[in-house]
Amino acid sequence: MEEDYVFKIVVIGDSAVGKTQLLGRFTRDEFFLDSKSTIGIEFQTRTVDIARRRVKAQVWDTAGQERYRAVTSAYYRGALGAVLVYDITRRATFEHAARWVDELRAHADKSIVVMLVGNKADLPRAVTADEAAAFAEEQGLFFSEASALSGDNVERAFLRLIEEIHANVS
Ligand code: GDP
Repeated sequence: MEEDYVFKIVVIGDSAVGKTQLLGRFTRDEFFLDSKSTIGIEFQTRTVDIARRRVKAQVWDTAGQERYRAVTSAYYRGALGAVLVYDITRRATFEHAARWVDELRAHADKSIVVMLVGNKADLPRAVTADEAAAFAEEQGLFFSEASALSGDNVERAFLRLIEEIHANVS
């Protein structure tokens, strides 16, 4: 069946926070031990039903470009949603989230819906959920912790983002 909407969603955040694994978990419900197996693939899709509408989520991966600060404005073009990922075990990746928000403000559409995801929730934390929630509120982002490894909250975070985008466009 044809979809009613296609939503481009970009996944951003520092290197090795688990962007590729989160994307794989959401689109295929898989976790790859060889995490860079998807390099070169620009996006993966998953179709979901939201409010009796068929939505194809086209989820883009940086494919390692963030290592060289080479995430270009083409990456953000047309994106309706962003998943901004940090690693709850590495404080610096959370502190850099503010820079990624600046990136979005500079390159993405003003109405982009952003879900801040604290990944690796299966491991001991260096960032509390309260401080991340406070940052998200201050910046107007949605927030969830998740684990691409266990799968906890991954689906829920992506679906929430897709629902919020849908509420904006419909
Ligand atoms: P990316 O560079 O942001 O795309 O990060 P990757 O998806 O390649 O993941 C970086 C590393 O973190 C890999 O070794 C993954 O196996 C590991 N990883 C990713 N997500 C999780 C998670 O939720 N829990 C744990 N324990 N490890 C994870």
